[in-house]
Amino acid sequence: MMLLTRKMIEIRNILQEISTGGGSRSLTRVQLPSIVVVGSQSSGKSSVLEAIVGHEFLPKGNNMVTRRPIELTLINSPDAAAEYGEFPALKLGKITDFAQIQKTLTDLNLAIPDSEAVSDDPIRLNIYSPHVPDLTLIDLPGYIQIAAADQPESLKSKITSLCDKYIASPNIIVAISAADVDLANSTALRAAKRVDPRGERTIGVITKLDLVDPSRAIDLLQNRSYPLQMGYVGVVSKVPSSLATRASSGLLSRFSGSGDSGDIGSVIAKNEEVYFGRHPVFTKALTDADDRTGQEQVTLGVINLRNKLMRILERTMAKNLQPACDAIHQELEETAYQFKVEYNDRPITAESYLAQSLDSFKLSFKEFAGKFGREQVRAMLKSELDQRVLDLLAQRYWNRLDEHPDLALATLDDATIKSILRPVSELPSASSDDVYWHRQLDACVSNLTKSGVGRTSTTLVSNALSGEMEHLVNSGAFKTHPYVKTIVQDATMEILNSRFYSTADQVENCIKPYKYEVEVEDQEWSKSREHTFALLKEEVRQCEAAYYKLQRSVGGGKKLSQVEKFVEKSRKGLVKMDDANEIYGFSQALIDKGREGLFLTKRADILRLRMQALKSKQCKSKDSKYYCPEIFLDVVADKLTQTAVLFLNVELLSDFYYHLPRELDARLGHGLGPQKMENFAKENAKVRRHLELQERKQKLELAAEKIESVIAMQKTRRLQPA
Ligand code: GDP
Repeated sequence: MMLLTRKMIEIRNILQEISTGGGSRSLTRVQLPSIVVVGSQSSGKSSVLEAIVGHEFLPKGNNMVTRRPIELTLINSPDAAAEYGEFPALKLGKITDFAQIQKTLTDLNLAIPDSEAVSDDPIRLNIYSPHVPDLTLIDLPGYIQIAAADQPESLKSKITSLCDKYIASPNIIVAISAADVDLANSTALRAAKRVDPRGERTIGVITKLDLVDPSRAIDLLQNRSYPLQMGYVGVVSKVPSSLATRASSGLLSRFSGSGDSGDIGSVIAKNEEVYFGRHPVFTKALTDADDRTGQEQVTLGVINLRNKLMRILERTMAKNLQPACDAIHQELEETAYQFKVEYNDRPITAESYLAQSLDSFKLSFKEFAGKFGREQVRAMLKSELDQRVLDLLAQRYWNRLDEHPDLALATLDDATIKSILRPVSELPSASSDDVYWHRQLDACVSNLTKSGVGRTSTTLVSNALSGEMEHLVNSGAFKTHPYVKTIVQDATMEILNSRFYSTADQVENCIKPYKYEVEVEDQEWSKSREHTFALLKEEVRQCEAAYYKLQRSVGGGKKLSQVEKFVEKSRKGLVKMDDANEIYGFSQALIDKGREGLFLTKRADILRLRMQALKSKQCKSKDSKYYCPEIFLDVVADKLTQTAVLFLNVELLSDFYYHLPRELDARLGHGLGPQKMENFAKENAKVRRHLELQERKQKLELAAEKIESVIAMQKTRRLQPA
């Protein structure tokens, strides 16, 4: 076994991992020699490569199907139960079906748009099999003579410059030419001659020997116009059509060629044996070549080509061992220096970064928990209920007139108006025996207590918590980590949802008594009296601010009052609304603003009236709930709040604060798995750079260690007696 090649393939794979590690700066400059296969389209390049691998796996078709270089690594794996291919960059796993490999290669190639036609981004494919040698080969897009109608003009030169990149030193060039085409016209040989004029690192492969006269074939193989130190190899790499079907479904033979099962390689080898054996001129040429010493000369057959490639690769690797080792060391030194300067040699792992981020997140979560407790929930819920109380008061007491803006009050007599709408100004003198005011207050209390406080308050706290979590993930340690953000949000929602119904039910059960009776203490009454006064004051302020804004929006107070007057008059039937535009030049929008202005003024007036009432002596006593429904409703709202908060605090808040960090530990700790952890860490550009530089350093260290051991191994080999 070619131990050196194998070791070098390992090193090459390590270096390749650096190249595909990420950003452009992670590309390594270290180059190990490869075998590069070039040839014109239809020269038989694919047939030769498939004969070496023993399987049909390369893309086929007329439509320029090789558009990217294919870096093919063959790994002889004697113990492997099955043969398989692997695209290391795609993470598709082991592919045992070679038709699938062919399809994947075709898809990858055809993904390059027709307009671009070729790309220099290589496809890496590893093939593991007990029947392949350790070998690396790079298949390049075939040279074309003229671009087809649907191909870009520049295609020819694009392919040439792509191939030029690969046929540069120290790579070995396998230049494929078909025997039935004049060798002087072989694009592959011409390209090789340009970069390797002395023919030191080129192997000529002449395919389709069966298509020319055998003596002409020998002439071609002894090509005098471009002599090659490693010589020419002649092949007949076409699967005979009678065997083609059997071969493609058959088993593989050993690459030694002795097997007789029907893989493409051995079928071709058998076919060649028969063909070359039938023409004595081939046997003679081989004997002549054996007699000569020095330069390698005529070689025949795919199997010999394969063995030759193995030998040459091994030799070239050995020759390049020291330069490659030096290059690795130089790059390692640069990387190590950079790592020291930029990161002070500080090691990092995705795991440690995640743990650190999680700790920091938990810390900000704890801070939030400290700030959002029972008191805050109470305030939030109370303000929600305050709003509800204000709405109820407006509906049942204050807004009475505005509720019926279009009621033609002028046409009704006072008694009727009074019976439909009792003005709030009557409140202070309302007798506690008056059923009308009893009904009003009962309706308000019932509305408040039966409005689903359990649901409302639980929703309120849940929303506040999930909102805050959203804010925390978007501003804290996870802000650049979309994936983890989702995990935190999912955990939050799961915990909150799982507690939602039971919390809402508990709260609802506990406020039940207030649905039937609310007892008020003196102290509660006076506290609510103060609170309500402040609340109304704030409402007045808001009315005034809104009114001021309205004035400005119509171009001043004067204008607004003109419109308001018009609206008032039209309400009383003194002017017709239809005339608004034509006679007064008031647009509908303006009229609406006039209505709003009137509403705001009236509301502020009523609020001020009620503030006065609250201040009055009459409202001091808790017995005057019918005169001061505002205070009584506030007492109710306060009781509901206190009771709800007790349960919300225990059932939802404390529970959430306890469980979330534990849930995150479970989901983001080892639960995440190493790959996701790494993806997570690399979402942070800074950490990504740090990790990549560190990985690069580690990989170069490993490569250096391996190549040194190979050099040592070579030395001991040389010292050993033959
Ligand atoms: P590529 O375009 O260079 O990859 O060429 P292919 O390997 O696809 O071969 C082009 C055509 O030549 C196919 O039809 C092959 O069957 C045929 N071919 C390849 N090698 C030989 C050979 O040694 N002898 C004969 N007669 N035909 C061959």
